[in-house]
Order: sequence, then C-alpha cells, then structure tokens
Amino acid sequence: MIDGMRWQEVFRGADPSLLQTLGSDMPGDAKKRAELVRQKYSRSTMAERRQTLMPFLWSVVSSEGQLFGNRDLGSDSHVINGLNFSYPGYSETLTGLADPRVDSNDNVANPNATVFEWLNAKPEFAGKLAAFGAWDVFDGIFRSKQSGLVVNAGYAAFTAIPPNSNLELLNALKLETVRIWPDEAFDPVPFHTAMEYLKIQKPRVLFLGLGETDEWAHAGSYAEYLNSAHLADDYLRQIWEMTQSMPEYRGKTTLIVLPDHGRGEGAKWTDHGEKVPESMQTWMAFLGPDTPPLGERKRSNPVTESQIAATVAALLGEDYPAAVPKAAALIPDILSK
Ligand SMILES: [Zn+2]
Repeated sequence: MIDGMRWQEVFRGADPSLLQTLGSDMPGDAKKRAELVRQKYSRSTMAERRQTLMPFLWSVVSSEGQLFGNRDLGSDSHVINGLNFSYPGYSETLTGLADPRVDSNDNVANPNATVFEWLNAKPEFAGKLAAFGAWDVFDGIFRSKQSGLVVNAGYAAFTAIPPNSNLELLNALKLETVRIWPDEAFDPVPFHTAMEYLKIQKPRVLFLGLGETDEWAHAGSYAEYLNSAHLADDYLRQIWEMTQSMPEYRGKTTLIVLPDHGRGEGAKWTDHGEKVPESMQTWMAFLGPDTPPLGERKRSNPVTESQIAATVAALLGEDYPAAVPKAAALIPDILSK
C-alpha cells in the first residue's frame, strides 16, 4: 500500500499546474532539486506523464493486470469509512469492514482481526504471513502483540529471524539515519527489509506499507511526493521481478497495490480527511495469474477498499466473509480467469 497516493497522479501523471509552481518560492538547493523534478516528470501528454511517473504500472500492470479508479473513464474506487485518513483506511482494507470505533491514528490495538491474523490462525498459513511498514502504527493495525503475526514497523529493529549482513545494515540505518518524522521511517528501509524476508522466509502473504508519499504531501513538497511515487513504482517492479524469478512464486503470485485514502483537488492536494470529501477516492491495481488482463478499467462497477480482505482470502482459496459476515464481498473481476 502507498500512503495517500492520489488517483490523479496514478492516472494522469504529474499535474502540470502543480509542476509549474514547483520550487518558485524555495531557497537555493531546494529550488534546484525542484527544477530537476519538473524536468523529470513533465511531458506533453497525459499518457506520457503517467508512464514517466509510474512506468511499471503503465507497462506491466496495464497490459497484464487491472487498474481501477480512473474517474475520467468512469471507474470508481473508494474507502467507505467516511474518515479518509490512514488507520481507518488500512483497517478497512485489511479487516474488510469500516468499524466506527476505528476513528484515530493512535497506535492502539485494532478492535478487529485483520485478514492476515485470520489466515495466520489456520494451520496451512500459520507463520507464513508478514507485514512490513514505514509507519509505526502498523503494530496497532495488525495488533502485533496479540495476533502472532510477524510485524516490523517504523524504526523498530527487525529481529524476528536470525540476522544476516543485510538485515544488520538495515537495522543500523534505521537507528542512524536522520528522522524527519517521529513515527515513520523512510521507505527504502521497510522495502529492503521486506525483500530480505521474502528471499529468506518465502511467506505466503506479504504486506508492505510505504509512507513517504503522504508525508511529503502533508509537507507541501510536490517534488518529493512525485519522487516517492516514482520510487514506489520501482519497488513494485522489483517485488514482481523477484517473485517471478523464484519457483515458489512464479506464475502463482498476485500483486495488489492501493493507497489507504486519497487527497484533495487543486490547491488542496496536500490534505485529506473527513473535511476533504474527495479524499475518499482511491485506486487499485492487480496483477496475477487469476486476474484477467483487462488493463485500465472503464465504466467498471465501483470497488471499495473493504473488498480487499475478501479478495486476498479468495486468491488463497479461502472464504473470508463466510467467517466474518460483516466483511465486504470480494471483487469478482479479479478472480474470473
Ligand atoms: Zn496523511
């Protein structure tokens, strides 16, 4: 999941009007960096702009998978929690329901089990799920103290498996690199930790939560927001190429990508929440052997983030709503091959 990544940039690429003003009021080096970003993501057409910003989504996923949420083409994806911020969005996605008790970003235990915890209770899946996140609140969302899941979030060292030299270096970087945000590490650390885990432990289900897009957007830095989105897209490529190079995963693995909420329009692009109604709008991408290659969806049935939990379970051959009746139904288009 890519925190607070807007559908607008996913489907339209970098916004020319936001690119235009980039860096104009910034001092020295920041202005130079902004100018480089403007050159990097400016293109004359929308198709080129999105291809430039997120090349993996607009090459591999758009030809072999599906993308929901381009409102310009009548495809709608949204959260149903009404709050349009992170904890409720992740919780809705991972538990399959919007619980009104989930109404803050406090790092407290989720009142409901995630589909990860539900799967982990089954002998077939026990110990074969893991979650890595830049944001320390994933400990609460996955309720790591009671769920028995492997969860590594924020700046916590990853010690759930015996250390190797890569993990030792990643743990050192977590401790030693500059901390811009008290509760969120930079994305490379959880990404590379998750990749180590993937290679060594080969889990059945892996969650990765990237956070920089949301942080830079709140800070009003469109340049860093775009760079983070571009890096996230490359991380998706690396995850996909890694799984397709491993016999345990090749041809039997599905990649699901989505944000936890959207953001405002125009000058309100930095913001989201209950008071920014359009920040309920999200997007979703799917790539895998059970998913027909319908590409960018047009005039599709609306999909909601609450449907992801049942969809994840169904891809593994499990019926989540049968056990959790309040959970939303799966997205049938993803499993109709
Ligand atoms: Zn946010």
